[in-house]
Amino acid sequence: MRKLIAGNWKMNGLSADLGAIEAIASAVAGHSGVDTALCLPATLVGPAATRLPGYAIGGQDCHMAVSGAHTGCVSAAMLADAGAKLTIVGHSERRAAQGESDADVRGKASAARAAGLNAIVCVGETEAERDAGQAESVVLGQLQGSLPDDANGSWLSVAYEPVWAIGTGRIPSIDDVTAMHDAIRNALVARFGEGGAAIRILYGGSMNGDNAAVLLTVANVDGGLIGGASLSAEKFLPIVEAAAAA
Ligand code: PEP
Repeated sequence: MRKLIAGNWKMNGLSADLGAIEAIASAVAGHSGVDTALCLPATLVGPAATRLPGYAIGGQDCHMAVSGAHTGCVSAAMLADAGAKLTIVGHSERRAAQGESDADVRGKASAARAAGLNAIVCVGETEAERDAGQAESVVLGQLQGSLPDDANGSWLSVAYEPVWAIGTGRIPSIDDVTAMHDAIRNALVARFGEGGAAIRILYGGSMNGDNAAVLLTVANVDGGLIGGASLSAEKFLPIVEAAAAA
């Protein structure tokens, strides 16, 4: 399976950063065996997609409705209209701060699909849930609730992101990554059959140029969702190179 390395810029980036976005796209262009994408703040999707028409620019969220009275929200159709090719849905920062439920995330993923966007659906346990021995049941529960019935690898990826690993510099043990990705794969195949076998399972949480080679050679780690290390070509490129070599 081709690996996908997707950057999540979170609430970072102004128009002055469009040059850095172009530099990242141009730095990774030589690695044709790896899919890459940059999920940007909504304000930068249009300008970046205009400058980089062939590159996979994405959003970081979308509303489940096509349009309507949802002040401040952005629909999947709006992202697509601005030139996005994909969007993240269900990031733990949104689940926590905006109270997004699994049903919300499922609706958002379906809205992305309806607008012609690919979706990266995020799941992951908190540290307290892991300490209580509930990591797998929490993640598999989120997975069941957040994925639409028509999920398959042609348009959807799953990102396993332990909440406690995001932005902390900490990552799970390789045994724990292996066990969780195997459990997610088994659940995807049980629900979606061959379609589930083709869904990419990304790892996310403090992936960087130092740990990417090890993480990306774990079975069923089909790429990465990268926060902090996606903000510059200097940090993003080594992860893409590790994916190309894995
Ligand atoms: C993320 O927010 O999706 C993420 C993985 O962040 P970081 O790489 O900074 O931990």
